[in-house]
Amino acid sequence: MQQTRFLLDQKDLPDHWYNVVADMPNPPAPYLGPDGNPVPPEAMLQIFPEALVMQEVSAERWIPIPDEVREALTMWHPSPLIRATRLEKALGTPAKIYFKNESVSPAGSHKPNTAVAQAYYNKQAGIRRLTTETGAGQWGCSLSLAGQIFGLDVRVYMVKISYEQKPYRRTLMRTWGAEVFASPTDMTESGRHILAQHPDSDGSLGIAISEAVEEAAGRDDTNYALGSVLNHVLLHQTIIGQEAKKQLEMAGDYPDMIFSPCGGGSCFGGIAFPFFADKAAGKDVTLVAVEPSSCPSLTKGVYAYDVGDTEGLTPLMKMYTLGHDFMPPGIHAGGLRYHGESALISQLYDEGLINAIAVPQTETFEAGVLFARTEGIVPAPESCHAVAGAIREARRCKETGEAKTLLFNLSGHGHFDMSAYERYLDGELKDFDYPAEAIAESLQHLPKVG
Ligand SMILES: *Cc1c(COP(=O)(O)O)cnc(C)c1O
Repeated sequence: MQQTRFLLDQKDLPDHWYNVVADMPNPPAPYLGPDGNPVPPEAMLQIFPEALVMQEVSAERWIPIPDEVREALTMWHPSPLIRATRLEKALGTPAKIYFKNESVSPAGSHKPNTAVAQAYYNKQAGIRRLTTETGAGQWGCSLSLAGQIFGLDVRVYMVKISYEQKPYRRTLMRTWGAEVFASPTDMTESGRHILAQHPDSDGSLGIAISEAVEEAAGRDDTNYALGSVLNHVLLHQTIIGQEAKKQLEMAGDYPDMIFSPCGGGSCFGGIAFPFFADKAAGKDVTLVAVEPSSCPSLTKGVYAYDVGDTEGLTPLMKMYTLGHDFMPPGIHAGGLRYHGESALISQLYDEGLINAIAVPQTETFEAGVLFARTEGIVPAPESCHAVAGAIREARRCKETGEAKTLLFNLSGHGHFDMSAYERYLDGELKDFDYPAEAIAESLQHLPKVG
């Protein structure tokens, strides 16, 4: 019988995070304040604990993972690496396809990997409460779980349309002890400001971030936690790629190409950065960020300084952005809706060191359904982007006869996304051209720098 599952022992859980900054050809562009000057790291202490601020600006290649965080991570890590032989067969491809299964965490995605680290450092710093935002609920659930593990209260501002359409994730957060509110709320200045302009606002991630940041900035016992985009978040996710590398060694393989969904960039950075270290040392590996055609920040955005939220409370970050008030159209069902992109990933992309593709939504769900029918696991709509990227390449290999080794990040399962699958299966999901006009309009509101 062919071995398809590659498993590590609990003791093989990485004991350091890998910091890609150490291997980047140029130092990261600094975060800027509203005056256009670099933000001193101390300014971030208002909403983040010192340990995370130090990680945010660190250039050390390896950063030790505290024992308490490793212990929490062993609840679901090391996660399995699987060779998708049934999918390979269905595609009739000579390519070998592996996936890293991050859907095995209690919250069903890779996001708890950073949530436990963030909760730990906040607890250490004497913080009692965390605020955050969530869209579909994956991050809110992950932080609720982590708050429960380390004894912190968690308040989640959930994008209103998801709050209404995804009641089960809301309940999952409450089960793990969090308070959940539909954003925009009337509890913050930012929320009231939006409601005054748009009383029927469906909310957006940018608005919910504004509310969570505002509350954290206004209370000494409360900090803010972000589930993606920031350097320290991507850092915490690098256990994914480090484990995958060891597991592929067990399989006697090394990837030619790696595919990951890419919204704010944490799951892409998590799987790809440890392989970027090899690439920087001369190895040939292609790292592909896969994004939705309807929210294409890398492939159709501009590389410019922009804020991370709608109300402009965050520092300016140099990133690929569609403009901070860009919202993908309502028909888009595949997640990955953030207007911007991790600054580290943006810089690597700008320098031509990583690749990106955009995939239309029916192709992503078609890939997800084929994956479910062959490998059994129903991928999260976000994860379907990676599946679709790998399938495109595997089909290309079939034409050329190349036996490439492909690896993708199965960042989560789709058990709470059945309504999106239902719309796909009922033929209701349509592809649409990326909203060029909406993006052009929103890019006019980019902050002026310098
Ligand atoms: C959040 C999420 C992603 C996207 O992560 P980013 O950091 O925004 O790129 C991908 N897959 C799943 C399952 C997620 O929950």
